[in-house]
Amino acid sequence: MEAFVQKYTTKLDSRCEVDANTGCFLWKGGSTGRGPKRYGVMRVRFPGSLVSRPVYVHRLRYILSTRTLRLRQSWDVSHLCHTSLCTDIGHLHLEPHHVNNARQSCRRFNRCDGHIPHPKCVL
Ligand SMILES: [Zn+2]
Ligand SMILES: [Zn+2]
Repeated sequence: MEAFVQKYTTKLDSRCEVDANTGCFLWKGGSTGRGPKRYGVMRVRFPGSLVSRPVYVHRLRYILSTRTLRLRQSWDVSHLCHTSLCTDIGHLHLEPHHVNNARQSCRRFNRCDGHIPHPKCVL
């Protein structure tokens, strides 16, 4: 597990850069689609697996930082900062999809009234 975490954390960090304005740690590698809703992708070979598969880099960051190989199915790793290419662990949170959805209005109105028991958005 530690070798896996070391290897992919190094890989992930080497392709990210801090955004001086927002503090986000932005992925600079390959991604899906275009526009504000694109997600970074990296091929990952998980421990015990013989083949690699594409994984969203924000989910990968969460997996590596929390050392949780299997994230709860159907839950989202949300971007508290609403920046889809960000991999700063402090801006990521695992939560149900409806909570993630509710964050969209925070972004639109640039105001967050909280998502108890989940953390507030980073605006
Ligand atoms: Zn961020
Ligand atoms: Zn919010």
